[in-house]
Amino acid sequence: MSLFPPEYLDARARYRAFMEEHVYPNEAAIGREDDDAQTLLEELRGHAREAGLWAPHVPPEAGGTGLGFLYYACLNEEIGRSAYAQLVFGCQAPDAGNAEILHLFGTEDQKERFLRPLVAGDVRSFFSMTEPEVAGSDPTLLRTRAVRDGDEWVVDGHKWFSSGADGAAFAIVFAISDPDAEPHRRGTMILVPADTAGVEVVRPVPVMGHTGRGWSTHCEVRYTGVRVPVANTLGGEGDAFRLAQKRLGPGRIHHVMRWLGQMQRAFELMCRYANEREAFGGPLAGKQTVQNWVADSAAEIQACRLLTMDAAGKIDGGSEARVEVSLLKFYAARVLCDVIDRAIQVHGARGLTDETPLAAMSMMARGARIYDGPDEVHRMVVARRILRSFADGDGWTFS
Ligand SMILES: Cc1cc2nc3c(=O)[nH]c(=O)nc-3n(C[C@H](O)[C@H](O)[C@H](O)COP(=O)(O)OP(=O)(O)OC[C@H]3O[C@@H](n4cnc5c(N)ncnc54)[C@H](O)[C@@H]3O)c2cc1C
Repeated sequence: MSLFPPEYLDARARYRAFMEEHVYPNEAAIGREDDDAQTLLEELRGHAREAGLWAPHVPPEAGGTGLGFLYYACLNEEIGRSAYAQLVFGCQAPDAGNAEILHLFGTEDQKERFLRPLVAGDVRSFFSMTEPEVAGSDPTLLRTRAVRDGDEWVVDGHKWFSSGADGAAFAIVFAISDPDAEPHRRGTMILVPADTAGVEVVRPVPVMGHTGRGWSTHCEVRYTGVRVPVANTLGGEGDAFRLAQKRLGPGRIHHVMRWLGQMQRAFELMCRYANEREAFGGPLAGKQTVQNWVADSAAEIQACRLLTMDAAGKIDGGSEARVEVSLLKFYAARVLCDVIDRAIQVHGARGLTDETPLAAMSMMARGARIYDGPDEVHRMVVARRILRSFADGDGWTFS
């Protein structure tokens, strides 16, 4: 019996057919990130819209084709297999998470100005929270300030790792608006159009040797006397921490869903190659070390799938699933890195070349253990909640 309802599997089969026809054959061309790649991407996005496969992360009332988290998890076992497919289907990070938060908390005017063009794929956005000077793991330390001046916010600050800021139309900026409030009421999220005076995308920060372009950048951004109307406040004043949880919860599980696709692709490459390649009198598949890698990977991937379905089902049911999402985030990030690494090792030197997607997958995967909260912080969240529950005399029930 499958983990997903038959109608979800039918939808996934449509995505698979599209990936085979349009995405895999064009991966190398898109990966060159030049002008031709941009043109090609636009063409493929057009095909995805025509095929009714556009924006599966948000529901039809927000302009998408989504049916909830479990549905999206199911599709991502296919979409996640290629790093570029999220762009082709209009559900790329960080826009997907930003769309989610705008859909949940935006005013009608904000939805019209920011959400509608975002989901339509006419513009991109970025999420500007992390700062080079302070530990991003602890947002109570953030320094970017937003000060009220009449009907305007004046924002000053210095951010980095604002993914996709190069060429984006607007940012959701996390700024400290009331430094004297209790720590988790100090921050406000503000929608800042990128062409506002004082917004400077300083540079894409090269990450593991990759500078990127447009969507694939991680930028340093300065905000100097940036004035936007108070009407650009997302949620309420002081709500940034609450919204960050809402923004990052879905964002994190979206990441993990894509990793499921990456893990499975690496696993398949490892198994096929292990059967093909021969050394010391027989195929690599006959060596116990390789068999251990295959068995461990199979067990860990299935565990990640089950944890994802569990968390996705709970979010669909209205829960924030804080423990489930944190647990999944650190566990799956580790499995992702391990499975890709084993697959590279089985391929020997070929695993480091661009003859397979493994080297690029490995480069992208390493960040998984850091972005949207490092492993250690998620372990802390999980352990604290469980231990508090024991301290309160409730113990812990695996639901
Ligand atoms: C590829 C990528 C994309 C990103 N995209 C975005 C984006 O779009 N927008 C954005 O705002 N940010 C983004 N980030 C930033 C990311 O969210 C931060 O890097 C992350 O929150 C950690 O913050 P930091 O880098 O300042 O590390 P720090 O907070 O300085 O932590 C450094 C290390 O300290 C350790 N540590 C921290 N706390 C604890 C603890 N309690 N116990 C034990 N050890 C601990 C961890 O090992 C951690 O890796 C991105 C990062 C990457 C790598």
